Amino acid sequence: MNQLRGLRIVVLALTLAIGCGSAIAEAKTPNIVFIFTDDHACQSIGAYGSKINKTPNIDRIARDGAVFVNSFCANSICGPSRACVLTGKHSHKNGFYFNGRKPFDGTQFTFPQVLQKSGYQTALVGKWHLNSNPTGFDHWDILPGQGAYYNPVFISEKGQRQIEGYCTTITTDLALNWLAERDKEKPFLLMCQHKAPHRTWAPELKHLNNYADVDIPEPATLFDNYENRSETLAENAMSIDRHFYYHYDLKVHLPVPFASKRETQLRDNEYGRMTPEQKQAWDAAFLPRNKAFLADPPTGKDLVRWKYQRYIKNYLRCIDSVDENVGRVLDYLDENGLAENTIVIYSSDQGFYLGEHGWYDKRWMFEESLKMPFVIRWPGHIQPGTRSDALIQNIDYAPTFLDAAGVDVPEEIQGASLLPLFSEPNSSNWRESVYYHYYEHGGEHQVPRHEGVRTSRFKLINFYSNDGFNLFDLKADPQEMHDLSGDPKHADTLSAMQKELQRLRELYDVPENKK
Ligand code: CA
Repeated sequence: MNQLRGLRIVVLALTLAIGCGSAIAEAKTPNIVFIFTDDHACQSIGAYGSKINKTPNIDRIARDGAVFVNSFCANSICGPSRACVLTGKHSHKNGFYFNGRKPFDGTQFTFPQVLQKSGYQTALVGKWHLNSNPTGFDHWDILPGQGAYYNPVFISEKGQRQIEGYCTTITTDLALNWLAERDKEKPFLLMCQHKAPHRTWAPELKHLNNYADVDIPEPATLFDNYENRSETLAENAMSIDRHFYYHYDLKVHLPVPFASKRETQLRDNEYGRMTPEQKQAWDAAFLPRNKAFLADPPTGKDLVRWKYQRYIKNYLRCIDSVDENVGRVLDYLDENGLAENTIVIYSSDQGFYLGEHGWYDKRWMFEESLKMPFVIRWPGHIQPGTRSDALIQNIDYAPTFLDAAGVDVPEEIQGASLLPLFSEPNSSNWRESVYYHYYEHGGEHQVPRHEGVRTSRFKLINFYSNDGFNLFDLKADPQEMHDLSGDPKHADTLSAMQKELQRLRELYDVPENKK
């Protein structure tokens, strides 16, 4: 009898243990906070070794989790990158090839819709930029198109309204308000997507004097002459030297007597949006600098250097606000007991040229705009201080989120879940190359259509619309200054990379290229 009672107690204890176990597993369905910016290059993030600024809060995520140093986009332009993130597919499969008026097809698979159906509460605030109303979100509050830095308009299902203040701060306020008001019983997905640091680089008033008394180091290729590579590079229209507007980009709101007609065509749209008080604070910072510039204007290379400093400082000031607001989100998670069970990611839709090759902007398959920052923390799943060299891509985000949530990843997804890399960050059981395809042609910046493949060592770019192949050895030539495609010593590598490109085209079912 005693024996039987003892057995019953054991069975009861086991039942309770199993019951508790599943309750714990359920409670551990992770929340996801995805902080996404626009045009934030890895060269300006501390965790990626920035030599020009500090980002202590983004670095907090990396320090507590992982930094992926070989993280790439599939198509280096705003809307298409976002479509790749949402769908886990390349542009030719999700149908969003380039920015423009055509709306993103939100009826197709996207990971927020699946998470919503799986019991997640889902929210999106800030930049959407897909010419459509978001689908798969219980709550959305977005900027129209590119949005504005100053006194931005937001659109929700209730209509649109203008909010006075600075966009990065307001976007974060809206995100934190939603976190506070959400149903605390459900896991959540929060996508907090900033306009910053996108052109036209209008910093927050309190950061206008950051970097005022320092010279930001110039990139080694600021005066690239585009020799030894495809002739198409020299036809670009995104150079710091020739393609900035004085008023619009460089914030010189005074007549520039030596400027060309083109250089004075566009006005600074952000200044036009400011309140009188905001304009006063802005002018207090910029007017003396602009007067000094015009009193003794530099010429030749010194003028390029001046433009670089004006551009990069405003870009970095925009990032100062981003970093500060990343810190606010992390603090909120800490203060509300959410840090342990929340995956936090910081990423940006693609990289950007911070003067490398003499450029601003993105689009090309060169490293600076091909790369996307990707730092992630997930306590208990990713060791603090992890660094991964694995070749990851924005098509991997959707399957990663589904996998982390315990939801099946549909067959049609082209990306791969990153979960295996969290425990084995430099696993040999991972893809050995990534496929890239940029589809816009010409336009404002004169970048042609091109595709390519990148391995850990080599990159092959196919300028199929107006030229041939360029091959780079990223180990010997990390700045990509010498095309090796015509060098007989590299004929075997060229052939192997061409085969790899063809293999990826078949793997991803890429249609025939249109010139
Ligand atoms: Ca972008």
